[in-house]
Amino acid sequence: MKCPICGNEMVEGGLIVNSVNPGWVPMEQFERKGIKRLAYTGLRIIGETNVLLNQTKIPNAWFCRNCNKITGIFDVTNHLEE
Ligand SMILES: [Zn+2]
Repeated sequence: MKCPICGNEMVEGGLIVNSVNPGWVPMEQFERKGIKRLAYTGLRIIGETNVLLNQTKIPNAWFCRNCNKITGIFDVTNHLEE
């Protein structure tokens, strides 16, 4: 994949998260402060979690050596009604 910023060829890889259930939320929820961070209704989970290792692997991430940035196209692994 070409870097969307500089156009160089990126290095394919994946993300390793030393936790469970990383996810995406809309900006309104992302900007929450305090106790409200304990309950997200719009959380789109990504990656596959190994609970025993407390680790989540997220494929389809690319690294640009030139920009020192990572970009990714991540499958959402939970299903919300909306
Ligand atoms: Zn780049």
